[in-house]
Amino acid sequence: MIYFIFTTTGCNLHCTYCGNDPEEMCMPLKPTYTVEELQAFLEKDVKVSKEKPTLVLYGGEPLINLPFVAQLLEQVDANFVLQTNATLLDRLSRAQLEQFASILVSIDGDKETVDRNRGAGTYDKCIAGCKAALEKGRIRNLVARGCAMEGNDIFASAMHLLHHPTIPFTHFYWQLNVGFDAPMRDTFETWVRESYNPGITKLVNEWIRVMETEGKVMGIVPFLSLTESMLEMDEKGEVIEPRIWTGPEEIEEEETEDEFDIEDLLPAVKKAKEEMKKEKLAAAAARASSSATPSSSSSPETMVRPDPRPLRPLRCGIGYNAFSIATDGKIAGCPCGVGEKWNMLSDDFKEVADPRASLCGKLKFTPPCTECDIADLCGGRCTYCNHTKYWGGNYHRVVCNLTIRHLINELIRVFPVVKGLLKSGKIEREPFTYPAEQYSLEVIP
Ligand code: SF4
Ligand code: SF4
Ligand code: SF4
Repeated sequence: MIYFIFTTTGCNLHCTYCGNDPEEMCMPLKPTYTVEELQAFLEKDVKVSKEKPTLVLYGGEPLINLPFVAQLLEQVDANFVLQTNATLLDRLSRAQLEQFASILVSIDGDKETVDRNRGAGTYDKCIAGCKAALEKGRIRNLVARGCAMEGNDIFASAMHLLHHPTIPFTHFYWQLNVGFDAPMRDTFETWVRESYNPGITKLVNEWIRVMETEGKVMGIVPFLSLTESMLEMDEKGEVIEPRIWTGPEEIEEEETEDEFDIEDLLPAVKKAKEEMKKEKLAAAAARASSSATPSSSSSPETMVRPDPRPLRPLRCGIGYNAFSIATDGKIAGCPCGVGEKWNMLSDDFKEVADPRASLCGKLKFTPPCTECDIADLCGGRCTYCNHTKYWGGNYHRVVCNLTIRHLINELIRVFPVVKGLLKSGKIEREPFTYPAEQYSLEVIP
């Protein structure tokens, strides 16, 4: 199980897009429980799961509360991940740094991009923190985790961070700033059409160029994880074809109070997929009967999915195997929605006898992801957004139909090339199996 641990709600930065104001957070500034109490809770989980838990140290800026972080690292037997702005990274000792399976550094791109959104001088402080840490010891997975929005050139940011002159970031991941807890900005869609989507196309082309010419798979997290999913689907004989949106251009999201348990949802998804399968079979039969070539029955167009694909758990794992522990010991699903009723699972982790039985599958999931035709590959971007619907009616049209479908379709476009390079041995499969979810990377920007 993965637990996001709020070590503090405080932060030493004031990024423009951050909703993390300690005064507005419905939890104390620092943990009011002890590490021993947390240990006892985790032991209950391990007793049943027989798996070492993963603790994602989270904030605010987790390193503001260094004594608590140090105590966790010293006393708890867990895999550790750190989400940090890196400005205080030099506070960790070599031994502490080496305990992290992955360190996710909040950095969006070059100095101008970072300082514009996170405050003047932040880029230099962040790089200095990374440099000081690297001089102390080995960091196993140093991930640049940025935010992309108007003014950001996603291609330039990726290139800057993946080819950084002093910091060897192993991977790059970004989240789109659509306006996390506010209506979508008027300028967002234009930026997506004119800058972001063309930038993604350019990045996909560069990713392939480097594979072809250098035999190297650049660590661009959404590309790796989505391609790995496609490879898995392909191995099962499923057809990987473009996910074109055929619905209306304008979609008004309906306000709904409907909520579904995932157990209730699966039969509905299964039924929808079965219907799709029937339609594909009928189309394939029609194509076969109109074709004069005997080999057409084995052509890719006539292949159908062998089985309806069950809805993939949310990529971030929230509600399935990932939960958040607030500073007052309350347990939530998503760390961004602590205090919101739909997201709360327990008032006190100390009262939970069996974490798996009490937490897993207990969060409710809502449309649009629960009804989406590409949920099998996308995996669902974010249950927080689905619940809160802060972005308004444009959510599905702009975020899903413009950004996610474009990203997925661009990766589908180059999928035959990736397969060919794997088959020829030019590239290895291993980079694609990167455990993004284990490192608290959500995969879908
Ligand atoms: S570093 Fe993170 S927690 Fe701190 S202000 Fe920026 S986005 Fe918020
Ligand atoms: S494309 Fe959008 S609605 Fe569909 S699964 Fe992904 S995030 Fe959910
Ligand atoms: S992707 Fe959404 S639901 Fe998942 S952790 Fe992030 S904010 Fe929460």
